[in-house]
Amino acid sequence: TMEFTDRLTRVEPSATLAISALATELENDGADVVDLSVGEPDFPTPQNVVDAGQDAMDAGHTGYTTSAGIIDLREAIVDKLADDGLEHTTDEIIVTPGAKQALYEIIQALIGEGDEVALLDPAWVSYEAMVKMAGGDLTRVDLSTSDFQLEPALDDLTEAVSDDTELLIVNSPSNPTGAVYSDAALEGVRDLAVEHDITVISDEIYKEITYGVEPTSLGTLEGMADRTITVNGFSKAYSMTGWRLGYFAGPEELIDQAGKLHSHSVSSAVNFVQHAGIEALENTDDAVSEMVEAFSERRELVVDLLEEHDVDVAVPDGAFYMMLPVDDDDQAWCEGAIEDAHVATVPGSAFGTPGYARISYAASEERLEEGIERLADEGYL
Ligand code: PLP
Repeated sequence: TMEFTDRLTRVEPSATLAISALATELENDGADVVDLSVGEPDFPTPQNVVDAGQDAMDAGHTGYTTSAGIIDLREAIVDKLADDGLEHTTDEIIVTPGAKQALYEIIQALIGEGDEVALLDPAWVSYEAMVKMAGGDLTRVDLSTSDFQLEPALDDLTEAVSDDTELLIVNSPSNPTGAVYSDAALEGVRDLAVEHDITVISDEIYKEITYGVEPTSLGTLEGMADRTITVNGFSKAYSMTGWRLGYFAGPEELIDQAGKLHSHSVSSAVNFVQHAGIEALENTDDAVSEMVEAFSERRELVVDLLEEHDVDVAVPDGAFYMMLPVDDDDQAWCEGAIEDAHVATVPGSAFGTPGYARISYAASEERLEEGIERLADEGYL
């Protein structure tokens, strides 16, 4: 028999898998499942981006690239980050196959056995797994009692972190809550990071998807440039999940260390995908606005429909998720909802916050209406 490493035995199979397995099983039996559990936009990749990828393939951009990514893409990323108020050079950027790989490399570079990492709950599922695989310990701050906002929970964060805290991960707009943290909240993070010499990952993958607010990039705050690693990617804003393209930007010493891991594992992101990434950054303003507009309308629709059933949710300011308050046993609620109503959602406990289910509104208005109607009919609202 094989013996597996501690780093893997520490990690649980994802709770979301149980839900997808149930959904697949039901669908195979012929059921029509309304899938509100998905973490990806339901739009095609903009055609000009697809064309750029195809043209790059035809032009022979099919070999290895420099490990950190082609210079033209890193230059386009420098410009994108500058638009967000972040100053970086091409030497401070690594292009990765997805933001997930970026996060993995940063955490592997910074976190070893017993190092402490602080998370704001509910937090995206993979942060916990990545920290555990690196041998790190987690300190978790619950934002569910403050409508998922960080500003009212700053005292709790102050309590949670110390000089022993190595890393704090901030994700605004947030998956799974859609919360966008206020400038005052980010300033509070800054003060604590400076006081305790904490490195901060700012996962800004949903930054382009907001409704009437402009999220501030943490790295723009005074005192944060040399302690912030900004992570972003193409999956959500440009509907490019399957292309696998993301990046991180941070202090050059971090880039040099993480670069070793990058070059000895993935080598580089896919060559022609990187070419398509340039097009995505430079020529998709209209396509992105259209997608955000559609998400915005669906968000209002879902909030209104839930209100009609007397369900109050914390209205999200970004991303395409919201947290529905459900029974304490959210796992059982989600399993019941899919079995009885054929509506798939993700239990809040997967994100560290029991008592909620995450709804994704990256679905058509018709399917959203259908899903909520079924939940109500089956007594789940
Ligand atoms: N960060 C957050 C908060 C996410 O929700 C996701 C995707 O679900 C990712 C990072 C990773 O995205 P990708 O690897 O597709 O770029």
